[in-house]
Amino acid sequence: MSKKHNFSAGPCILPQEVFEKSAEAILDFNGIGLSLLEISHRSKDFVPVMDEARAIVKRLMNLGDEYEVLYLGGGASLQFAMVPYNLLKVGGKAAYLDTGTWAAGAIKEAKKIGTVDVVGSSKEANYSYIPKDYTVSSEYDYFHCTSNNTIYGTQMKTFPEVDTLMVCDMSSDIFSRQLDFSKFDLIYAGAQKNMGPAGVTLVVIKKEILGKTGRENMLSMLDYSQHIAKESMYNTPPVFPVYASLLTLQYLERNGGIAAAEQRNEAKAKLLYDEIDSNPLFETFCVKEDRSLMNVSFKITDESKKEEFDNAWKAAGISGLNGHRSLGGYRASLYNALPIESVQVLVDVMRSIK
Ligand code: PMP
Repeated sequence: MSKKHNFSAGPCILPQEVFEKSAEAILDFNGIGLSLLEISHRSKDFVPVMDEARAIVKRLMNLGDEYEVLYLGGGASLQFAMVPYNLLKVGGKAAYLDTGTWAAGAIKEAKKIGTVDVVGSSKEANYSYIPKDYTVSSEYDYFHCTSNNTIYGTQMKTFPEVDTLMVCDMSSDIFSRQLDFSKFDLIYAGAQKNMGPAGVTLVVIKKEILGKTGRENMLSMLDYSQHIAKESMYNTPPVFPVYASLLTLQYLERNGGIAAAEQRNEAKAKLLYDEIDSNPLFETFCVKEDRSLMNVSFKITDESKKEEFDNAWKAAGISGLNGHRSLGGYRASLYNALPIESVQVLVDVMRSIK
């Protein structure tokens, strides 16, 4: 069967080379006569995988020794709890920006741990824009934002200057665009979009921010310091997702790094948004200035053409185009590994509906 044009929002398309090398490693890892799945995470064959997977993130993000890189289980959703558990002082408060379902999920968990102020929210407008008129003072222990809203198709183009620690959920646009990563004190991302398969979460932390909450007897598995002390092997790490993430990041590094990925992503997004803007049959859910380069959420303006459109994109070999169940419509996810040729196929289908 020929490869489909995969617009899935995540887990999602990865470079073909990553699929092939991952498959090889399951059968025979680096020619050692054993599968990656049957060796100890502490073996001389796996430890270099974890070491390099941690090192390459700092190289790609241009970060120095003041940062630590962890690969943890539990998805980005566990970070909704670990962030406040590790950064929200006993009796302190945190500032959150509410830009969508995932941001709201982070807020919900943080409220179970301490006081949370939502400093900006676009919930009343069905998250169709990114709030911008807010300030975050030093009375907060940290500020939490979501760089890209996977469901609503909005993206923060700039980040505010805040007088406190800056924490960001970059699950759905990590490694897709150039940012000054040193502006962030903690970044986390579920791997299953631009980074690798599901099952592991990247956490990048500025070490000096830890150990300041006054929280005693912290649960070890929820304590970043414990994971850092054990070089991301406090417990058995998800070895296969870590390895496949390493392959994905090595592929990115060999192909021009984040700067080149950004150019490709901008070209893909332009192609699709230009079609949406010039074709009266389609429109986005969100305001133009906050449109995401990663997730293009859009709807059809004439419901009587829906069936024809659905049949046409399926016949063209397109997969994963249905919108999230909470928003409806369509969502074309244009992650790093999606070739521009796939976007052209979609645009051609959109043009063919009269
Ligand atoms: N944050 C964002 C921005 C997401 O897109 C997602 C999942 N799509 C999550 C958090 C939750 O991630 P996980 O399923 O890894 O817990």
